[in-house]
Amino acid sequence: MLGREEVGQRSETVRRANLSAIVRALHLRGPLSRSELVASTGLTRSAIRSLVGDLVAGEFVVEEAAVRLGTPGRPSPQVRLLDQSAVVLALEIAVDSAAVAVVGLGGHVLWKRRVERPRGHSSLEEIVDDLTTLAVAARARRPAGERPIGVGVAVAGLVNRANGVVAFAPNLGWVNVPLGARLGEALDLGVPVSVDNEADLGALAEFRRGAARDANDVLYVHAEVGIGGGLIVDGLPVSGSAGFAGEIGHMPVNPAGLTCRCGSIGCWETEVGEGALLARAGYPIEGGSVAVGAVLADATAGRAEALLALEDVGRWLGIGLAGLVNILNPSRVVLGGLFSRIYPFVAAVVETELDRRALAAPRRLVSVVPASLGVDAPLFGAAEMTFEPLLSDPVAWLGPRTPFVQLATAG
Ligand SMILES: [Zn+2]
Repeated sequence: MLGREEVGQRSETVRRANLSAIVRALHLRGPLSRSELVASTGLTRSAIRSLVGDLVAGEFVVEEAAVRLGTPGRPSPQVRLLDQSAVVLALEIAVDSAAVAVVGLGGHVLWKRRVERPRGHSSLEEIVDDLTTLAVAARARRPAGERPIGVGVAVAGLVNRANGVVAFAPNLGWVNVPLGARLGEALDLGVPVSVDNEADLGALAEFRRGAARDANDVLYVHAEVGIGGGLIVDGLPVSGSAGFAGEIGHMPVNPAGLTCRCGSIGCWETEVGEGALLARAGYPIEGGSVAVGAVLADATAGRAEALLALEDVGRWLGIGLAGLVNILNPSRVVLGGLFSRIYPFVAAVVETELDRRALAAPRRLVSVVPASLGVDAPLFGAAEMTFEPLLSDPVAWLGPRTPFVQLATAG
């Protein structure tokens, strides 16, 4: 027999799990009626009524009269998350740009800015300054009472998630850089700072809100200067023992290829990364996003050099994807970053290479699509990561709110 105290603890654990199921459903699917919450959580109608009452009292949700949509019967009120009840600050540091977004519960992007960044401007202090400036700008645009519950950062590198240390970021020249801790000090917001790899976060965003919403086994391939991979298997992100999994850009594909920034030879990113495209199209390899735009303009105008460069990149892209499809058996491959920009020019050759090189059975089951969140997928994924503690256990946030103290105007 359980003692009274144990019964109490057990029922509190159940209540917390049930509140989590409701908040998660509303966060991922938008406003739902109580009947839809019953259907999506498997809880009873009376449990939903009581738990929604707790969330209303905690100022996390409101219940609103529903618009009748021509269906018979009394319209059921809609339960809607208050998007400003909890916000997160998402930051991204890419090789050519930095970005910030304030995202509200429910995934609503309340404010966003992306700025170009000079290459080579990549010491820890320079990047922390850039991100702090963006964070201050974001805070200045938002209501003073709005309180971020956390900060999430997407970075192009291998990240140890447990401590926010960037173990290796060849395209920033970083080895063992304590980005999370240093940024936490500089921002001084009194909330946790989480750091993760941009491709892992892009995968999370496309899986939750983008081109892989209806897929459970997803490979997201993010291209910029380097290539990163994010993997969702059976609905769960795969990170490896320290968070380093998915470094598909450094798959050796061409023994006769170029030296890679990681020190190896003929890695996949030396054939399909931004530098490879620009070099083949006759542009400076450090030309960045502007030069990529010029290649795409050339291709649209029918210039042979640009079209051949894109075809070559598409061929190597298809070769690498064929291997990955054989190993991973994803149902959806999402191409992000640079690949989402060049997709219209490479789609056909990628499909041809997959037909030619992947095993027939996994090949038949996979579709390859461009990222629907475009270049912002990692930024939005950083927001999703930062909401996760709240989604897992909303009770900790249901208590009295302390208004957010305005961020000191540094920088
Ligand atoms: Zn490499």
